[in-house]
Amino acid sequence: MTFDVKGKYALVTGGATGIGLAYVKELLRNGVAAVAVADLDDRKGDNAVKELNTEFGSGKAIFIKCDVTKADELTATFQKAAQTFKGLDIVINNAGILDDSRWEMEIAINVTAVARGTWLAFDIMGKNKGGRGGVVANIASILGLQAMAGCPVYVATKHAVVGLSRSFGMPYHFDRTGVKVVTMCPGVTDTPLISEAHHRQFTDDLGKECGRELDSLPKQQPENVAKGMLHIIRNGSNGSVWVSEGGQPVYEVAIP
Ligand code: NAD
Repeated sequence: MTFDVKGKYALVTGGATGIGLAYVKELLRNGVAAVAVADLDDRKGDNAVKELNTEFGSGKAIFIKCDVTKADELTATFQKAAQTFKGLDIVINNAGILDDSRWEMEIAINVTAVARGTWLAFDIMGKNKGGRGGVVANIASILGLQAMAGCPVYVATKHAVVGLSRSFGMPYHFDRTGVKVVTMCPGVTDTPLISEAHHRQFTDDLGKECGRELDSLPKQQPENVAKGMLHIIRNGSNGSVWVSEGGQPVYEVAIP
């Protein structure tokens, strides 16, 4: 059964820039009523929301400053979005970093906050909790499905997101909540996270190896991943895992 995004309300973590901002734009372009952009960076968040409200109409986007690693801030962010919009229908747990020199923080952002964000979405959107049901999309990576030298912990965090999401996407949860959970695995995408400037910050050998690997790969544009995201929110089945790479249309992967 397809999910109709028209008139729905969404929350995107890490939505101030990069692929997250492209998700926000794609949702609004396709009739989503309004989106809450939750991000650590208030300058980029404020700018993004100004730009979005100019492009799509006043009130279409709100900014909520949030560090997803702080449980109380993430909870307050979900509550504020749900209060402002009188409910939530779509959550994209997108915030992520690639920096194995801060690997404990990497786990906190890329894994712990995605697990917490999914539980919070169930609490607010779950039909068993008085919500309307909806869709949660968790952002892994092509590196959630394969290995790469230079960033072993990043690779592990993205494998964890695939496992988390597939498990949250089992009938046990959907039967109670009416919330579908899908996973997006982008390939290399042209964003600040992947820029050479970002890689120049890596000072240790492992980080430099990661930068070299990524710089050698062709990059797709965030808009391609965002188009794929809209497709999987609409058509992805509960627990399904999708890849968006090389600028090609998104495709589903079967994991045994
Ligand atoms: P980006 O660095 O361009 O944007 C990430 C956003 O997350 C930023 O706005 C940043 O301020 C925000 N953020 C970082 N830490 C935060 C925190 N603690 N709390 C709240 N917000 C925080 O990154 P991107 O390339 O757009 O990546 C988005 C997601 O896609 C990440 O999960 C990333 O791992 C994943 N991904 C990216 C690529 C790629 O090639 N760019 C490939 C596969 C997966």
